[in-house]
Amino acid sequence: MPRKIAAGNWKMHGDGAALAELDALIAAAAPGVEIVICPPATLIARMADRARGSAVAIGGQTCHHAATGAHTGDISAAMLVDAGATHVILGHSERRADHAESDAQIRAQAQASLAAGLIPILCVGETEAERDADVTLAVVTGQLAAAVPDLAPDTAGASLVVAYEPVWAIGTGRVPTTAQIAEVHGAIRAHLADRFGAAAQDIPLLYGGSVKPGNAAEIFAVANVDGALVGGASLKATDFSGIIGALSAA
Ligand code: PEP
Repeated sequence: MPRKIAAGNWKMHGDGAALAELDALIAAAAPGVEIVICPPATLIARMADRARGSAVAIGGQTCHHAATGAHTGDISAAMLVDAGATHVILGHSERRADHAESDAQIRAQAQASLAAGLIPILCVGETEAERDADVTLAVVTGQLAAAVPDLAPDTAGASLVVAYEPVWAIGTGRVPTTAQIAEVHGAIRAHLADRFGAAAQDIPLLYGGSVKPGNAAEIFAVANVDGALVGGASLKATDFSGIIGALSAA
């Protein structure tokens, strides 16, 4: 059985005042749910210190594939680990769009993350035009084929998290039907099983895109949904705790 994970992507939101929100999120921990908060890089070390010993893990939002070097503004996987991170979001559609990140780059970032001891939360998902053109499954499995690195089958379940995030559902309040989520998550599981065999059953598959306390239970009831990657509703502990509670009960 995959672990249940509620991951929060804070994007470019939050400063020192947001540390109080972390305290409230720590208090919102619920049985059987791993909580991962991915704040801006400026908060990682402070949040990791503050969350040490709690049920909340801290993650980065991207990393460079190189360990060090002349890459102004970038941060390496080892630097994230040094700051106290245990996870890193890779391939988020905003990184793909704003920074033209390719699947090949995301694969290299994932390899660097694994080598540094980070768990990648690797994002895939179709645009609205791709869904309308009925190529969603081809797009998502193509992204997986190109971006997911080779993993040792016996540790695959512990090393990787995959997040299905339809681009058109992120920050829009629009959510796919449960049948659409089930279809894509089933295809992701099948793709991973082709590559990693039985270990694919242990890789947590998260759904992301406008998850709120009010729709979380319905989404978590879908087959092969092991949690959520949450943007807006992860910023306030009052909202995120509702999602964590729904996942705990699922
Ligand atoms: C995200 O950015 O990963 C996300 C899912 O955002 P939201 O929950 O706000 O749609």
